[in-house]
Amino acid sequence: MIAAPEEMACRICLSPLNTLGTPPTYVHPIQLATDGHEPVPVPVSQLDTVRRHCDFCGDPYPTWTLVGGQVTAVAIGAAAGLVQNFGQAWAACATCQTHIDDGRNHKVVDRAVQAFGLGDHPEARERIEQLHRAFLDARVPGRTLITTTAWPATAITARELPKVRDRLARFYRGDDRLSTALATTGTRQHLAAGLDRAGLFWIDGDFTDLAEYAAEKLPDVTISRDLMPSTDGLLVWSRPVTPGQITAASWTTTSDGWHLVNYRTIGGGLDGAPLQRLREQVGWLAPTSTVQVHEQHLLPGDHPAAALTATWLLIAQQAAEVTTAEVDKAVRKTYARTNRPAPEVRIVRIRANRGGTPSSARSTPGDPGPSQTSRFWVSGHWRNQPYGPGRALRRPVYISPFLRGPDDAPIKLSTTVRMLSSHRPMSEDHD
Ligand SMILES: [Zn+2]
Ligand SMILES: [Zn+2]
Repeated sequence: MIAAPEEMACRICLSPLNTLGTPPTYVHPIQLATDGHEPVPVPVSQLDTVRRHCDFCGDPYPTWTLVGGQVTAVAIGAAAGLVQNFGQAWAACATCQTHIDDGRNHKVVDRAVQAFGLGDHPEARERIEQLHRAFLDARVPGRTLITTTAWPATAITARELPKVRDRLARFYRGDDRLSTALATTGTRQHLAAGLDRAGLFWIDGDFTDLAEYAAEKLPDVTISRDLMPSTDGLLVWSRPVTPGQITAASWTTTSDGWHLVNYRTIGGGLDGAPLQRLREQVGWLAPTSTVQVHEQHLLPGDHPAAALTATWLLIAQQAAEVTTAEVDKAVRKTYARTNRPAPEVRIVRIRANRGGTPSSARSTPGDPGPSQTSRFWVSGHWRNQPYGPGRALRRPVYISPFLRGPDDAPIKLSTTVRMLSSHRPMSEDHD
């Protein structure tokens, strides 16, 4: 059996590329409007985001890859100019998948006709129907979750976290495939078991700002057990962080280290049955990148796990105030029914710095003194500090993660936002 060549996408516009001739040259899909740049092919496995569309209806948030009949090239309706090079693997959005699962293939055709503006071309509808049938009649059972779709963000609250964790564990135990390094059943079972016993951490808005800002400048970090706030864990930031737009990360103990996984939220913007089904079958999180690390592993500062590592470090150095969240009664009941202890969600906020101001914060020039009526951020930096037995080890400590101004004064959010995430202005109020 000849392995299929790896799918390529353009590094500039992130669009999957079609092939022409042998040996293949890579071209943009004909219907794609580009700024005229030449395609820069890279294997899709090297990209966090691939700008795919549903091959059935053109929806920009495809969710599943289905394998079916080989459909090489089809042109429909000169007026519409729809020319596409289909292969054996098609991307399906959550809505088309719902219709296909329920045996309503004509609804999928309706979506395509509408999306491509072919309502006035009955012969085009017929062609699309033939095309879909050619693919679906030869469909191979099963499907693979697409994890490179850049969904609009979905906010996950602290109260929802046990449910989010449980759905993710169930997805790992289920039959829907993953194309990443998490493809093997053994790994998936292991991650599911790790999630069952995971400590749950919800990072509030200010702490998320701080963690993202600090992660951008993170130096190399030596991984060790005492860095982590729990043996196994799932941590959710209150919004997507880093250029990879990850919203959650998990760590799972293995025989010789940890399995770290980053997650993005999925399903943002969906509603009705497709959303319900996605939440039921997958949940809220899709695993993106994954890495295995071991004790004393040196992780580069620009590693995909930098946001998780920076958040661990900030918690470990007591920049955090950790409280326990109220968990929904329904969730507590569900747990009780299955003899599981009630889940505990820890909320991570920036520590209210009473009596523990580090000297670096006190000695900052131009200390506003007691007349200040609000606190504001001073931009910080990492410094490697000795710790451990004989102070022989080095670990980055974030300097000035604390606030300037009186301990009990409110945090001035406008200042926080300007200093901590100037690239992403926010205006919403925090409580
Ligand atoms: Zn391109
Ligand atoms: Zn679709």
